[in-house]
Amino acid sequence: MAQQQPRAPAVGDDPREPTTDVSPPDGKVRFRHLDEAVIEADRCVQCGTCVAACPSNSIGIADSDRRPTLVKMCTGCSRCWDTCPRAGLRYERLATLEGADPEDVADGIGHVEDAYAASAAEDVPDAQHGGVVTALLAALLDDPEGIDGAIVAREATDGTGLAAPKLATTPAEVRAGAGTLFTQPLQLTELRELIAEADLPADPSLGLVGTPCVIEGVTALDRSPYRETRFDEPRPLDHVDLTIALTCTQALDDEGLEHVLAREYNLSPDEVTGLDLVGQGIRIDLADGGEERAPLADFAGAILSGCLECADATGQTADLTVGTVGTGQGESTLLVRTERGEIAFDRAESALETRQLDDLGPVEQLAAWNADRAREAMAREYDPEGELSIPHMAHREAYDGTDRAPVAFNPARVHQYEEWC
Ligand SMILES: Cc1cc2nc3c(=O)[nH]c(=O)nc-3n(C[C@H](O)[C@H](O)[C@H](O)COP(=O)(O)OP(=O)(O)OC[C@H]3O[C@@H](n4cnc5c(N)ncnc54)[C@H](O)[C@@H]3O)c2cc1C
Ligand code: SF4
Ligand code: SF4
Repeated sequence: MAQQQPRAPAVGDDPREPTTDVSPPDGKVRFRHLDEAVIEADRCVQCGTCVAACPSNSIGIADSDRRPTLVKMCTGCSRCWDTCPRAGLRYERLATLEGADPEDVADGIGHVEDAYAASAAEDVPDAQHGGVVTALLAALLDDPEGIDGAIVAREATDGTGLAAPKLATTPAEVRAGAGTLFTQPLQLTELRELIAEADLPADPSLGLVGTPCVIEGVTALDRSPYRETRFDEPRPLDHVDLTIALTCTQALDDEGLEHVLAREYNLSPDEVTGLDLVGQGIRIDLADGGEERAPLADFAGAILSGCLECADATGQTADLTVGTVGTGQGESTLLVRTERGEIAFDRAESALETRQLDDLGPVEQLAAWNADRAREAMAREYDPEGELSIPHMAHREAYDGTDRAPVAFNPARVHQYEEWC
């Protein structure tokens, strides 16, 4: 894993400095407001939405901490603020705008049309559990009426072991990406380049796999009222015709993960080939072929702190959701939520072994536990029927004075703000 530069102090152990004026004099909400409220406050979940939302490509990803950073002039259009699920985007409202019952949304599960216990009909080496995501995407790539490419994750080729995005255009490439990586691949930040570099037809149709926060970003940019009212220019996301959420209660911060492995297990990143959630613990797969079993609690310090504010474990705004909870060994739980999801499932069904799942109890329990945890952690009100947009002022009123309050921007970046923001 990459050597990291020191980041902003973690929430809870920094003296809070005065931050940018709560009410910007020109009324514009800029990247610096997002930076203070989310990135410096250590609430960023690395979904990449702000980068994809910026019409002037002013936001990049810092090599040092894999967080968004300003790379050129910010025009103050506020789109990064509006679409960030930890800032201006009331993410729980997206699902109800798509027609889900507010109570189902608040329970953490959202709208489910059909549910299956599923596994790949043909063995998928390295799959996390049922190999369902891989089998489904591979079948759709093989189908002339299916998709032209699939945005999945793979291990970065730089030896860091971190997740990186991959646009697969063949079933073999999808199979090479099977398995779960517990860091974020930042796929939304590289969509344009991935599409430009891939061997794709004009106007390709793509599937995209992501954690629920990534899918919230895609939904906000692609299907919400923002799309109609504010994002009228063509965008790489226009090509995403199918979204698959991976059930998720927390992603890991690469820097924190490196510390945990070194401190608790005396392991360096190149000695570890993978992590897997097994029961109440984590299995650490070792490069020498061995494994270690670790209690989940050991990894608490590596969890992205913004994940604690996520009430969307099941990816309510996705077309399909796939997770391990709720089914047995060798199977995955597949939730079909939308018409696009149904069409994809019907096309790929012969590549899967499925049985109807009548009891969603374990999924509901996980989703409800996760939603309760989020409501406790977030300083703003959780409201599936509220306004989709949370203005900067309202956010500040809710978060100022809490342990998740905005933090003055990193002194190392001040010159950027003076010049660009
Ligand atoms: C951070 C994280 C936390 C999770 N936590 C839970 C949990 O608490 N409970 C639960 O039931 N399930 C959880 N999952 C989902 C689970 O681990 C499996 O990914 C899911 O069940 C699919 O398994 P599969 O065998 O069907 O998929 P596979 O056939 O193995 O395919 C998985 C697909 O996901 C892609 N992928 C892997 N990692 C990422 C990533 N980080 N971002 C985007 N795409 C990725 C792969 O490239 C591949 O295409 C989590 C996943 C992630 C990424
Ligand atoms: S949470 Fe997502 S949208 Fe918000 S700052 Fe982080 S990467 Fe950007
Ligand atoms: S817990 Fe929520 S915010 Fe964190 S990675 Fe998973 S989906 Fe994203």
